[in-house]
Amino acid sequence: MPQPWDRAALRSPRSTSPKNPTFGPRNPLVPNPAGTKAYILKPMTRKLQLFIFIPILLFGCKSSTSNPREQTASTETVAGPMVSFTFDDGATSDIAGFKFGEWNEMILSHLENEDLKAVFFVTGKNKLDEKGQFLLKSWDDRGHSLANHSFAHLNFSSEKNTASLFEKELKKTDSIISGLGNSVKLFRFPYLKEGQNKSKVDSIRNILRSNGYTNGYVTIDASDWFVNARLIKRIKEVGVEKAEIERFRDFYLQHIMERANYYEKLSYEMNERHIAHTLLLHHNLTSALFLDDLIEKFKEEGWETVHADQAYRDKVFEKIPDAGFAGESLIWSMAKQSGKYDGSLRYPAEDSRYEKGKMDSLGL
Ligand SMILES: [Zn+2]
Repeated sequence: MPQPWDRAALRSPRSTSPKNPTFGPRNPLVPNPAGTKAYILKPMTRKLQLFIFIPILLFGCKSSTSNPREQTASTETVAGPMVSFTFDDGATSDIAGFKFGEWNEMILSHLENEDLKAVFFVTGKNKLDEKGQFLLKSWDDRGHSLANHSFAHLNFSSEKNTASLFEKELKKTDSIISGLGNSVKLFRFPYLKEGQNKSKVDSIRNILRSNGYTNGYVTIDASDWFVNARLIKRIKEVGVEKAEIERFRDFYLQHIMERANYYEKLSYEMNERHIAHTLLLHHNLTSALFLDDLIEKFKEEGWETVHADQAYRDKVFEKIPDAGFAGESLIWSMAKQSGKYDGSLRYPAEDSRYEKGKMDSLGL
């Protein structure tokens, strides 16, 4: 039976750019508004590539990005940490002068240029209209996995959002994504909130299990959403040419790498090995503008990039924290449960409050 997203207007061949006349990109790598070419990412990327090329000559290339899906070796045997990319929500609006179809295409192009597959965690609410259907199809057609991020993005650690409401939310979005070829039974909690007490966490976990789902855990959490919000605010205030986007990029790269290295260190102490991480980013403007540089940065610092569905095969994701320690990133929960980090673990693990002062002082 034909699905709503099978309409001819939205159809595009696999592995090619969607050519939807309304939302499709004109030029995926060049931001749309007049004059925005003043912000050019490519020269930096090429410079970073040189930095990467020399170590590869000296030490050889262990990158999995040539064809990571064919890797069969255990992810536990590699020498360094691995990172994969996951994106939450899925927005369908134009952002600060960047057309929806174009900034979405920028994210997809960055991933494609690195031969990387991501998992997109879908909120259902805004995916029922034409733009929402176009977005889902654009991700599915490019071979990325589509997972469940609830329908209305509720906080399930709030008392009013009950376990039975959780089940309705899970099923609504499941019905939206399950017909797509690359849907997977992973669920990511909005705000990473699994429930405010042990019995509710247990109920929700039972619902997930009986619906064939597992938790789409985050191991590296960060506040990309906050940098994104500040960047958009600045562009709206002064225009894209005067927004000093490269200074936001530098902060973003430094922030994400700082959090990645923090969670990797914590993880290594507990697991005594490098794991395959799942980094939480959002489907937003910072991902569109900076993802290529972020991927380069990870590689420059010795991380291996892997497909997100491959990362979820790491055995660390079988270590479900006790219900009393649910929420935040998986690594944070494990550390909390170990009882060894009570003096150093902050709560909430990540929040705008930690970045606001730094951005204020930099004038960002
Ligand atoms: Zn979300």
